[in-house]
Formats: sequence, C-alpha cells, structure tokens
Amino acid sequence: ISESTLSITVVGASGDLAKKKIFPALFALFYEDWLPENFTVFGYARTKMTDEELRDMISKTLTCRIDNRENCDDKMDQFLKRCFYHSGLYNSEENFSELDSKIKMKEGGKPSNRLFYLSIPPNIFVDVVRCVSVKASSKNGWTRVIVEKPFGRDSESSGRLITCLKQYLTEDQIFRIDHYLGKELVENLSVLRFSNLVFEPLWCRNYIRNVQFIFSEDFGTEGRGGYFDNYGIIRDIMQNHLLQILALFAMETPVSLDAEDIRNEKVKVLRSMRPLQLEDVIVGQYKGHSKGSKSYPGYTDDPTVPKDSLTPTFAAAALFINNARWDGVPFLMKAGKALHTKRAEIRVQFRHVPGNLYKRNFGTDLDKATNELVLRVQPDEAIYLKINNKVPGIGMRLDRSDLNLLYSARYPREIPDAYERLLLDAIEGERRLFIRSDELDAAWSLFTPLLKELEGKKIAPELYPYGSRGPVGAHYLAAKHNVRWGDLSGED
Ligand code: NAP
Repeated sequence: ISESTLSITVVGASGDLAKKKIFPALFALFYEDWLPENFTVFGYARTKMTDEELRDMISKTLTCRIDNRENCDDKMDQFLKRCFYHSGLYNSEENFSELDSKIKMKEGGKPSNRLFYLSIPPNIFVDVVRCVSVKASSKNGWTRVIVEKPFGRDSESSGRLITCLKQYLTEDQIFRIDHYLGKELVENLSVLRFSNLVFEPLWCRNYIRNVQFIFSEDFGTEGRGGYFDNYGIIRDIMQNHLLQILALFAMETPVSLDAEDIRNEKVKVLRSMRPLQLEDVIVGQYKGHSKGSKSYPGYTDDPTVPKDSLTPTFAAAALFINNARWDGVPFLMKAGKALHTKRAEIRVQFRHVPGNLYKRNFGTDLDKATNELVLRVQPDEAIYLKINNKVPGIGMRLDRSDLNLLYSARYPREIPDAYERLLLDAIEGERRLFIRSDELDAAWSLFTPLLKELEGKKIAPELYPYGSRGPVGAHYLAAKHNVRWGDLSGED
C-alpha cells in the first residue's frame, strides 16, 4: 500500500476557500504526519500562475499549531515542494488531459489514487466532473470528488445536480462536504450520548422539553452579498448545517459506527419530520444602525445586493419530528447574520422536576429551575450542564451552577479545523461525515415547499438593527411553542 500514490487536486485553487481552508488543512495533515508518503498537491484554475506563484500564494496562509512549532519552516518547505499548478478551463477535456499527464509524471507509474476538491461555483461542477472522469481519473486506484455546498437551491435543482454528477461518478466517489459535521463538538455529540449512561435514557420526549440549534454571526455580508443574495440564510445555514446537526442529535442508536448505519438513521429522522409551514418560520433582514459615532450598514446597503432584496439574513423555525421518541418536542433553529454575537450552539432544555420538593426556592418561575445542557460548537468549545445547587452555608438557598467542560482548560491542544478531519476522511474513504444523496433529497423535501411559499408570496422579512438580537418575531415564534431562547436563567 505504501507503494501507491495520492494526488490531491484543488480545482479553483485561486479562490478564497482554497486559500483560507483547503491548503492550510492539507498542510496541517502533512505536518501531523497524516498524509501518505507519496502525495502530491495540484492547484487547478483559469488564473495563470507558475508553480512558484502558487507556492508563494499558499505559503501566506499556512500556519503551524501554537503548541507544535518545531521544524515548522522546514515542514512548510517540504510541503510546498510537493505543490504544483496547472492553469486550464473548467470545461476543457484537453486541459484536464494535460493535468492528467502532469499527475502521471509525479505518480511515476505507481498505483494511483486521486482526490479532486471542487472549490468552485456550483454551475461548473458538472463540467469539471465530466472532464475529470473522462480525462483525469485514476486507471488503477480510486478517484474521489469532494463537492462543497450549495448542492442546488431546491429539490429540483439538487435532483438535477445529483443525476448529472451520477452520469460520471458513482455515489461512493462523491463526497458532499458539510463542514459542520467535521466540527469537534458535533462529532462529540454521539460520543456524549452513546457512551455515557446519564444522557441517552433522557434523550426523548419524556424528559426533553425542547432543543435549540443556534447560529449567529456578528457581521453582515460586507460587500460579498452577491452569492448570498441568491440563497439566503435558510439555504446557507439551516437546510444543511443546522439540519444535519439536528438529524445527528435526534437519530435512533445506529447498528454500528459504520457510515451507512449512521446515515440510515439520520435519513429516517429527516423523513419523519412534519412538513414545515409558513407559520413555523419567521424571517428577518438586518438594517443600518448607528451606535455612538459608528454606523453599521444595512443588508441592502451592500453594493452587491439589489436595493429591493427580500432575501432573509435571519430566520427562526420550529420543527417537529413525528416519531415515538420526539412526538411534540419543538426543535427550534435560529440563524442570522449581523447579530450581537458570534456563536454556534446546541441547547437542550429539560422538563420541570415533577413534584419538585424545592419548588418554593424558585418562586413562580419554575423554568428557572430546569436543567439545560449546552454544547457550544464555536467559539471557545464547551459542554456544560446547568444544575440547581445548594449555596454553601446555613439555611437553604439554591442557585444555578454549571458542570462545565471548557475545552481550552481540559484539552489545551489546539483543535484541528473541520476541513482537516474531513479531508483525511475522504482520503481514507470514511463517509460517515459526508452527505448521502438520499439525505440531501430529504433535506430539500423539507425546506423546498417553504422556500417556494416564502418567495412566491414575496414575504417581507422583519427588519432588525445590525448588531441586535434579531427580529422580535423570533421570540413570538418560540413563545407559541412555550419555549424561551437561550439561557432560561438569563445568565449566559
Ligand atoms: P470563489 O473564490 O468565488 O471561486 C473559486 C474559484 O473559482 C475562483 O478563484 C475562480 O478561479 C473560479 N471562479 C469563480 N467564479 C467563476 C465563474 N463564474 N466561472 C468560472 N470560474 C469561476 O469561491 P470560494 O469562496 O473559493 O468557494 C468555492 C466554493 O465553495 C463555492 O462553490 C462556494 O459556494 C463554496 N463555499 C465557500 C465557502 C467559503 O468560506 N468561501 C464556504 C462554504 C462553501 P479562476 O478565475 O482562476 O478560474
């Protein structure tokens, strides 16, 4: 096996994602000795560049981990020497054939495995996949293709993309990346649940009152709204990242940790979801706002966004899973840009303690006494459980405390970026964290009717000031389901 070679081609190598995430993740894998011995990296895009220019470009974004700086410069040099560039068009079989010759030279006749990372706009996915499959696939090893979202913008376009890609690739060659699944805390969700006795027995409607999936960014589109305006926050964050986490959270115990077993369970959750109605959702858009001498632009002030855009930059939704485990439990999602904070978290609010002996210590607001489990996915990863505790001393005063697992304190090593884990999984053929086509279908089936109705009826988003907590409608939506967002005791 050590005789075989691995060629990784980053298609769209001149782009933002390649520079920010893919090359740095490949270097981190190399640096930590995860990559096989005989590997080569190729950049491919239309921009004219020499190998040296590519190396120069990517060297600016490579970093070594703070706690592992030894030989950093040497390792960077070794890595960069393995990076090459080929300029070509995305629909030119001839240009891909040239790339194939360069890859073959590096392979030196050894068995070859080839990974193509499509870091390009989705309208050229099919062209590239055709050219790769016809001209640049491996003849004696595997060929795999990683694709980034967006995977279509509704059921029909996603279905068309799946069909087109399958003309050239089999399902097990396609790795649809959702980088949220590669995040440390999201991977840990199943470990927490299935390897600790204290959680799984409570993981159902009898004990869990609601579950919240929250994503917020503290900045807007800032001149890069062109792509976003065609998609909006529901497609950009909810239909993929938050829904994937929900499926992982709510699935039944899989038969094993095998990718197919896990994805079978996730797809069952998606197919059990109650269709989303307009009244289950509220949408918002940020507007300009001044604070002291500083002013913040509204979404439609972005020059790349049409002035009359109704695209939501915020959405909140209440979802329900019609199965025995979750019947009636609201799963709330909230995602937004230009909010007061930047974070992604999962919050699990438990039911009241029946016949609580300490009821009078909590006054009239029993919600303040409910347990809450929080998985903070980013930033500053943490898992904490809010419990009621006796304040030490004479008398009986209770307060809320956290059983707190703060990652930076417990695990001082830097946490690898999600792209590192996912790239390595693709190299190793581990599909557990990639989206299967039936999962994608089910995810679009849930959101497409809602999106069509929102867009067909031209529903105006509720405006909220840049830097605020978002539209007040999100609170009404939660209240309708007897839910309060975030921390019940108001401490977070
Ligand atoms: P990008 O910079 O806009 O595009 C990547 C490269 O594709 C460009 O350098 C350009 O290379 C080529 N390209 C751009 N527009 C094109 C067009 N209309 N026709 C043909 N080629 C074009 O994109 P990115 O931000 O790197 O993202 C790559 C993919 O990942 C996109 O599909 C995006 O939706 C997705 N994605 C990005 C992020 C992120 O953080 N940036 C996150 C999630 C998903 P040449 O001109 O040199 O050929």
